[in-house]
Amino acid sequence: MITILDCYTDEPAGLGVPPYLGTYPRYIAGFFGKVNYITIDDLRFLKYYHLNDGKKEVSHKTNIKIYNLTRNILRIKEILDGTTKLIVILGVHTPGKYLSALPGTLEEVSELIKDMNCEKVLTGPVVFGTQLEGGKFFERNDLKVFDKVKDFNFKYSEIKGHAIKGAEIVKQISRNRIIEIETGHGCSRNKGCSFCTEPLKNKLEFREKEDILREIKAFYELGCKNFRLGKQSDFYLYPKVVELLKDIRKTFSGIEVLHIDNVNPASVVSDKGKEITEAIVRYCTEGNIAAFGVESFDPVVMEENNLNCTAEQAFEAIKVLNKYGAERGSSGMPRFLPGINILFGLKGESKKTHSENMKWFSKVLEEGLLLRRINIRQVSIFEGTQLYNECGDKFIKKNKRHYWKWRNEIRQKIDLPMLQRLVPAGTVIKKNIAEIYDGNTTFCRQIGTYPLIVGVKGRLELGEDYDLKITGHMLRSVTGVVEND
Ligand code: SF4
Repeated sequence: MITILDCYTDEPAGLGVPPYLGTYPRYIAGFFGKVNYITIDDLRFLKYYHLNDGKKEVSHKTNIKIYNLTRNILRIKEILDGTTKLIVILGVHTPGKYLSALPGTLEEVSELIKDMNCEKVLTGPVVFGTQLEGGKFFERNDLKVFDKVKDFNFKYSEIKGHAIKGAEIVKQISRNRIIEIETGHGCSRNKGCSFCTEPLKNKLEFREKEDILREIKAFYELGCKNFRLGKQSDFYLYPKVVELLKDIRKTFSGIEVLHIDNVNPASVVSDKGKEITEAIVRYCTEGNIAAFGVESFDPVVMEENNLNCTAEQAFEAIKVLNKYGAERGSSGMPRFLPGINILFGLKGESKKTHSENMKWFSKVLEEGLLLRRINIRQVSIFEGTQLYNECGDKFIKKNKRHYWKWRNEIRQKIDLPMLQRLVPAGTVIKKNIAEIYDGNTTFCRQIGTYPLIVGVKGRLELGEDYDLKITGHMLRSVTGVVEND
């Protein structure tokens, strides 16, 4: 029997960390037909915790290492004993902080599976390296525990069938997941950004609209109502993007969440940018975000790393999204806003880089515009990229002592006033799922792309949803009280 072990994936163009369900386990499940699906949480639970009745221990803080147990947890031993081939899916290229999951590292999974007596195949983004912490080279672990490292690299003509068959694995998953739907892969730019692995992995290609619709139908019929059209480098480039969105909403009227992910700001300010922005606002659900991979507003860094837009284009794109998407919807969140990604450690980075970033963020604030969030991380360095070949961690080493200060200044001077503008005290945000405990606080968030984290005093029932009234603002999250008590 074949067992898929999902250790979760996070790449520039694709997220498979719970609550997201990535494409890798689904396509591979579809390829093999009948499989068991288990998570690294299941294995950790079996190895390090007590497997009495499948219930997690009650602790002071929710243990996110074992939060995402599958329905198979109660027969995990039987599944492992009956496994003849284990497919391990792993690979983090864009590490983040995850509220309720912790992806596995190569070191960890090697230890967990070393005694299993079956064929072991390693796959996923790890084929190009993996690193769970920013600011480091990819993990160099010996792979002797694996029989094979394999890039399944299905063609879209093959995925068309695998994606539909593979949807079945949701039956083995207990937690409500957001299904990450692929629209295309590769990058439209001849020479990609210096740090990015996407151009190394794929040539630019898009899926057929009908194949995407058929895949969504398969999940929809299995009861999934939350989708992110997220596995692509620039959603605006999809050839029939307006028709795709219209057809999804028309065909699947019960969809609760329909969001997108990556967008190149240069596409938003292109000829078709306004029409696409309007269509996204119209057909997607509220709280939607376009993640702009700006990475730096410093012209030197932009040039040296071949980044995807100019600072002026990024600013214009922020204005376009605000014009069409800033209105607050009935969920309590604005309909469609930009999120900005900033990367530390790129080639050419200097103190001026931080002052350029602050200059443009301050301009956004001064002009009354909204950003949903600013993601700041240190670059991870992967073999084969321009960054790896030209300078490695030179700039990280040089500037690391400034990063805390730079990050903190953005958080204090930009994020905080932005959050106060985004969700003023008294705003009610609907349907937040209670996700984890930390002491006497429950952290909740809506289902969707980069949802806002709301901390509520007391222990709410995990997994239930609550309407929350905002009472205060932290640097990146907010506090609230239950409104529908
Ligand atoms: S625009 Fe840059 S970050 Fe985005 S996929 Fe292309 S190379 Fe990667």
